[in-house]
Parts: sequence; C-alpha cells; structure tokens
Amino acid sequence: MDSSRLLVGGVISLTTVDYPDHLAAVVFLQGCPWRCVYCHNPHLQTISPEESLPWEDVLNLLSTRIGFIEGVVFSGGEPLFQEALLPAIEDVKNLGFKVGLHTAGSYPDRFARIVSLLDWIGFDVKRSFKDYHLITSVRGSGEKSLESLKILLESNKDYEVRMTMHESIETETAVDVLMELCRMGVRKMVLQKCRDKNENVVEHPIFSDRILLESVSKDFDSFCIRG
Ligand code: SF4
Repeated sequence: MDSSRLLVGGVISLTTVDYPDHLAAVVFLQGCPWRCVYCHNPHLQTISPEESLPWEDVLNLLSTRIGFIEGVVFSGGEPLFQEALLPAIEDVKNLGFKVGLHTAGSYPDRFARIVSLLDWIGFDVKRSFKDYHLITSVRGSGEKSLESLKILLESNKDYEVRMTMHESIETETAVDVLMELCRMGVRKMVLQKCRDKNENVVEHPIFSDRILLESVSKDFDSFCIRG
C-alpha cells in the first residue's frame, strides 16, 4: 500500500491539546466502522475520495513546520480504517516528527502492525466492553477494542486512555469500567465531558461527585478530567 492513497479529511497545523506536552499538527483521516452516538466528526465516518486532501500536499505543509512542531497526530474518523496509514506514518517519521495516534481500537490486527512505530497513543474506551454497541451501534465492537487495548498495554508505549461520559453511561457502570481498566493495567486515565452538537457540555452526575472521583483516581498514576 502506497501512502499517496491516504484519504485525508483535514489538517490542523498547530495544536497544544491533541498530543500531551507537545506542539503538534493533527491529520484527520476519513473512514470509521462505528457510529458513536456522540461522534463529533460524523462527516469523517464515510470515505469521500473526491473531498480528500492530497497526501503529498499534507506532507509539504508538514515539512514547513519542521522546527516549530514536535509531533504529528493521526486522528479521524478512525485512522486505522485505512491501510495506507502505515506508510504515511513512515513518511512523517522521515521528516523527523514524533507520531501520535488517536484510536478507538477498531482494528486490532492493524494496530498490532503499527504500534512499534508510534510515540504516543490516545486510546478511547467507550464503556464496558460487553455493552460497546450501546455507544458505537456496532455489535462486536467491544471485543475489538479490548483486543487493541491489550496490545497497547503490552507495547510499553506512552499513552492515555480516555472515556467520554455520555449521559447513557450510568455512574455505577463508569466506576465498574474504571476498575476493570485498572485491573488490566491502565495507569493513565482521562474522563472526558461529553459535548452536544453545539459544543455545549452535557453534564454527567459523576463530575459532581468529588468524593467518588477522588476515590477512583487513587487507583491510577495519572487521572484527569477534561472538557
Ligand atoms: S469511533 Fe470515533 S470517529 Fe468513529 S464514530 Fe465513534 S467517535 Fe466517531
């Protein structure tokens, strides 16, 4: 597979929030096999080659950022949807950048093939793995995510695991998920506030329960709330 076949939905040439402690660019890739109820990039769920930015143009843009940014993050959509991701990562590494990946782990086999090339992974967990379809609308998605998470934890790569607190996730369920993640060996955890289509925060009761949050946070080396 040739990187020129990469379908790019957009680029942000500078971000301070998508790659912790790094100035970075973000490359948004088209395509995702899931349909999460709170997805903020639904226009990237399906591929649209005629609307894609040429990868060569994106690489040219990134090469003008050498010396200004430290890393490039592939996001989406689900970046692993496209097999051209692997050669594209190699292109970016050849420019001297660190590479980050935002993924929900939908393709464990592809993730296993590229993880050694990555410098940081932001991994989305949706809810308890057996009930993933309640968020993703796709049965079997939890099994794929679980398999990918195990690959991540065995990789010794830098990462954060994030869970977006959609209103449909009961507080008790969220605590069960956090405990399960902790048992699996997750050390860096982020709970994200959910936003509606107008970017307004949809409050979840877990964020008002400071005693509970303090208690669950003790199980992780790093635990933060975002949004
Ligand atoms: S996995 Fe991500 S990109 Fe895909 S539908 Fe869910 S939120 Fe959207």
